This record gives sequence, structure tokens and C-alpha cells, in this order.
Amino acid sequence: MKLAKRVSTLTPSSTLAITAKAKELREQGHDVIGLGAGEPDFNTPQYIINAAVRSMEEGHTKYTPSAGLPALKNAIIGKFKTDQQIEYSAENILVGSGAKHVLYTLFQAILDEGDEVIIPTPYWVSYPEQVKLAGGNPIYIEGHEDNAFKVTADQIKKAITSKTKAFILNSPSNPTGSMYSEEELKTIGEVCLKHNILIVSDEIYEKLVYDGAKHTSIAQLSSELQKQTIVINGVSKSHSMTGWRIGYAAGDSTIIKAMTNLASHSTSNPTTNAQYGTIAAYTKDDGSVETMRAAFEERLNGVYEKLTKIPGVSCVKPKGAFYLFPNVSEAAKMNGFSSVDDWVAAILEEEKVALVPGSGFGAPNNVRLSYATAFEAIEEALNRLERFINNHM
Ligand code: PLP
Repeated sequence: MKLAKRVSTLTPSSTLAITAKAKELREQGHDVIGLGAGEPDFNTPQYIINAAVRSMEEGHTKYTPSAGLPALKNAIIGKFKTDQQIEYSAENILVGSGAKHVLYTLFQAILDEGDEVIIPTPYWVSYPEQVKLAGGNPIYIEGHEDNAFKVTADQIKKAITSKTKAFILNSPSNPTGSMYSEEELKTIGEVCLKHNILIVSDEIYEKLVYDGAKHTSIAQLSSELQKQTIVINGVSKSHSMTGWRIGYAAGDSTIIKAMTNLASHSTSNPTTNAQYGTIAAYTKDDGSVETMRAAFEERLNGVYEKLTKIPGVSCVKPKGAFYLFPNVSEAAKMNGFSSVDDWVAAILEEEKVALVPGSGFGAPNNVRLSYATAFEAIEEALNRLERFINNHM
């Protein structure tokens, strides 16, 4: 059977691929430490689980409106009011099956064949693939390491053509953990407004920020920017709810309506009990979001110090998310490897440590390691990494 052209160039998610390989080795009896995970290692807070269970017991086991329960939209609107001091109406909100699928729906709704989307590198692996699946062309601009992997308004300006439709902003970023300041967002916003470029602002790591850093949404900087921006967010990372598959988009009602129509023919609605759980997540607070954030911060500080002492490894200190994105090109070279990809494969084979090569994120000199795992496991992984580097000098 000949497959469709649209899937022929599709590359599998490198993050999921490394996690699968680590799992395979583990099943063969190897003591593998996986630092590939893109999800918190905590269980979902109990009050959220209780709310979802209760909803099912009360008979909420049927379809809901395609864009989500009105009560959930209200809870999301309340969240924006509290956290970003911005107002949305129900017609500005679409709840979907995870932020990933909401982004997919967005690109399907806004892109025509040949439309361009500006994507800063390093990028989250799914952005380019989703843009391509919608017929669009990803246009990459490089976030330089000496600017904490962030792009500038000037770089965006230079990449704009008559075909540019959107710009993807991800702050805090996966994989780098970098965050844009209010000042930087303002200058980026000006360029996008001037050229009428839709800003897709993926804020899924909003709650995971460290060292006193403050998350600013570009949508909160002015009413013009709010209109120009589709905010993408969800509860996967903030409330450790990756398996529940709830994410949402907030923005222009025409785009949201088109996305809702698409959702009505693809998912029908996000899972009903997960929506009830999310209402609880956003209307109650038992302190667990902050407890998890603080745990990540403690790990980050411990791990960062140890990581940056390893020969041939340098790392920009992240301000958010739960990843470190060190440059290991020097270490790989010292070990006689011509690519970081090969070096990562050898480390998994020999030391049973699963890192994600940066090539999948458009940054071939780096690797991503997640600290969403027990501190002792990360420490042991770094010991093994150091041993590998020293053994291969
Ligand atoms: N955006 C970024 C930057 C992510 O890292 C992820 C998950 O890895 C997502 C979106 C998708 O999150 P969700 O679990 O809500 O689909």
C-alpha cells in the first residue's frame, strides 16, 4: 500500500524514540537511566483525580461541546484573569486533547499550501512536523547560544516574506528552558503587529520557572498583541496531567471557531472526565503545583552544578521548564565521535544512559536531558556520563 505523500517525510518524535529504546533495553534486563522524559515524575494531585472520579460517578460520561465544557472555559478564563490580567470570552477559548493536538488543529485551521511559519531553533520537535502536515513551510531562525538560545526581533524581521503567516514563540522553552523578558517580547510583538504575523505563543511551561523568574505572556502586553496572539497552554506540565490530554487555545474568535469546527470532525471533544478534573485543577489549589515547581528547582540547582563540571560540557542555565540543554560538541570531539548523535547512541549502549540528541530540536551540538526524574537517578546518570567521557579520551 502506497502511503500518502504527507506522511512520507514525517520523522518520528526523537524524544519518544529514545524513551522507547531505553524501555527496550530495560526490558532486556539492563539498568537504564532515562533522561528523555518530557513529563513530570509526580502523580496528578489527588484533588484533581477525585474530581474526575466524582464526575463519572455523577454520570458525566457523555460527549461534551466540541470546544469544551462551558464550566471549563470559565475556569480557563478565570486563570487568564488571575495570571495574565487579560479578559477572554467563551468564544475565544478552545479546549482540546492536549496542547499538542490543539497546535495541530491550529495549523490545520490557519495554513494554506506554501504558507510560511517562522520557527526559532532549537525548537520543540513537533512544531515543524505539524506545520508541514498542514502544507506549510517551516522557516528556521537560529537562537544563538550566546543569547541563551533566544531570537531577536531583527532576526524575525529578516525572515518575513509575503508568505509568512505565523511566528512560534515558546517561553519557557522546550528544550532550552530559556525565557523571553518583557522587553524582548515587546520588540518581537511590534514586528509581528507591523507585518500582521500571527503569534503562536506556547506557554505550556508557564508555571515551571525558577530563580525568581517571572513568566510574561506576550498576549498581556497590549490589547493589540492579545488579538494578534493565539496562546497555547494546558495542564500536562503544571499539574502533572500528561496522560489526561487536556490543552487549550485562547485568541481570535474566528480562528477559534474554525478550530472548533475541525475538532467537531476529528476528536468530537476532549475526554469528559479529564475536563472535570481540569476544572478542579484551575478552580482549587492545594499547593501541589508550587510543591512540584520547588522540587524541580532544587533538582535543577543540584544537577546544573554537577553537569557543568564535566569536561567538554557547557550549559546555559535554564530559567524554566525541566530540561537542561548542554552543548556537548567538545566532549563528543574529545571522545573521537564525528557527531553528537553517534556519541549519544554510544552512551546509551555502553553506560545505559538515555539522552535526547539535539539534532531533533535543530541543534546538533547539544543534548537534552530532563530532570523530571529522581535526583539520585540524575546524579548517577551524570556519574556515568563523566565516566564515559573520561574512558574515551
Ligand atoms: N508544547 C511544548 C513545548 C511541549 O514540550 C509539549 C509537551 O512535551 C507540548 C506543547 C504538548 O503538551 P500536551 O501534553 O498538552 O500535549
